[in-house]
Amino acid sequence: MSSDPRDLESDILAAFDDAVIRISKEGLLTFVNHKFCVLFGGAASDWIGQRAPIDVATAQNADYYDVCYERLDETLWLSWQITPLNHTSSAAFQAVGRDITRRKNHEDSLAAQKDQAEEENDAKSLFLATISHEIRTPMNGVLGIAELLLDSDLTPVQRTYVNIIKESGDNLLGVINDVLDYSRIEAGKVSLDEEPFDLSMLVHNVVELLSTRAFENDLDLAAYIDPACPSTLVGDEGRLRQVLINLINNGLKFTHQGGVSLSITCCDRDSHDNVQLRFAVRDTGIGIPEDAQAKIFDEFTQADDSHARRYEGSGLGLAICRKIVDAFGGEIGVDSVPNLGSTFWFTIPFKSQQLAQPSLPVNDLVGLKALVVSPSAITRDILAAQLRQPSMLVVTATCTDDAMLQLNAEEGTPFTTLIIDMLLGEEDAFALNRAFTAHTKGRQARSLILLRPGDRSLLEEGRSEAFD
Ligand code: ADP
Repeated sequence: MSSDPRDLESDILAAFDDAVIRISKEGLLTFVNHKFCVLFGGAASDWIGQRAPIDVATAQNADYYDVCYERLDETLWLSWQITPLNHTSSAAFQAVGRDITRRKNHEDSLAAQKDQAEEENDAKSLFLATISHEIRTPMNGVLGIAELLLDSDLTPVQRTYVNIIKESGDNLLGVINDVLDYSRIEAGKVSLDEEPFDLSMLVHNVVELLSTRAFENDLDLAAYIDPACPSTLVGDEGRLRQVLINLINNGLKFTHQGGVSLSITCCDRDSHDNVQLRFAVRDTGIGIPEDAQAKIFDEFTQADDSHARRYEGSGLGLAICRKIVDAFGGEIGVDSVPNLGSTFWFTIPFKSQQLAQPSLPVNDLVGLKALVVSPSAITRDILAAQLRQPSMLVVTATCTDDAMLQLNAEEGTPFTTLIIDMLLGEEDAFALNRAFTAHTKGRQARSLILLRPGDRSLLEEGRSEAFD
């Protein structure tokens, strides 16, 4: 080994597995090591005095500076790191270049594979969308004819068979619609509208649409919108409706006692009327075990595979909801306790068109005091919240006896309003109303009855005259 320190330095640089060069202030090469010559060809003496193969100013501003050198038959990638030199007179910089060609080629091939996978995925989604559409058309024929058959003279056995055709067909159509919708969203074919819409109108329509199903199953369904929410929002009403219907329908499907409530609150608002709304769909149903909570938002997943036999479904509903909420730029999640119920929530940023406007003439309600009587916790809570907002006083009771106790123990402001849920039963409701009328004799008081879809016949029979 040489004893001269300069020879020693050259020996080390020569043995280096990275290209090492030195560059003058003018950007010309003053030194190249052996590896540099291996990579770039030629002898060291050919290179001295030539322009350096990197841009010094750019290299100085970056920790690492990757440069691609296209050659006749191959591409060379070097990652350069440059350091200024102070101690030598001829060179101002030293740069070390590491050969990263293999890594870059690997990255390129990964990117190509990813592009190809995405193309294949798009093709798959397109295929699904096409066949779902092709299946839907004949399915509608099958269902239409099954309905016609049900309207004709059939023996009881035939009727049972046709009913099975109809129900299975409806379920199949539901699954196909989910697959179609999911594949459309997956293929990026869904863009969100930006139209103004009325939030309370939307909620009203959704609740009305699903109330029949709820009451057929003896379940409660109620909705509450915090008055801090703007009344007019700008966004895709149809897609928001789809998520709400999906979550509420799930709530109704997995609940056997109690019911489902939707509450909407405003969790953020800036000075430009950008608002963040939080939608929570709470049910008192079977709940979801903790380990299943994260995966139910994946496609074709159900919390418990044995459910699939008890509860019809494609396992796509929540995956669709998540895609839509993602597209809105929001978040979706669930809090649940098995056997107690679940709260599916999502947040969505909206633009609002006007400031919050309470939908009730608030001043008329100040000083009024309501007694809300309902066996349903959901109805009591939501009604109380709605009435308290415009500053009414509210007392709740679960049954007639409880309500009578509250009436008789009246403290402070006298009752002015009675709201009776028809769930109490006809006899109790009318008796309570009579007691209230007697109790409030001589002052302004009103009773309201809360009817369910099936109770409307009461009104038609003229039985409502007991209520003013
Ligand atoms: P499906 O069409 O099967 O209902 P979803 O994607 O809507 O598909 O739901 C996936 C699974 O999540 C359901 O099969 C069920 O196991 C669970 N799940 C969804 N909503 C609820 C709920 N409100 N309560 C209990 N489990 C639920």
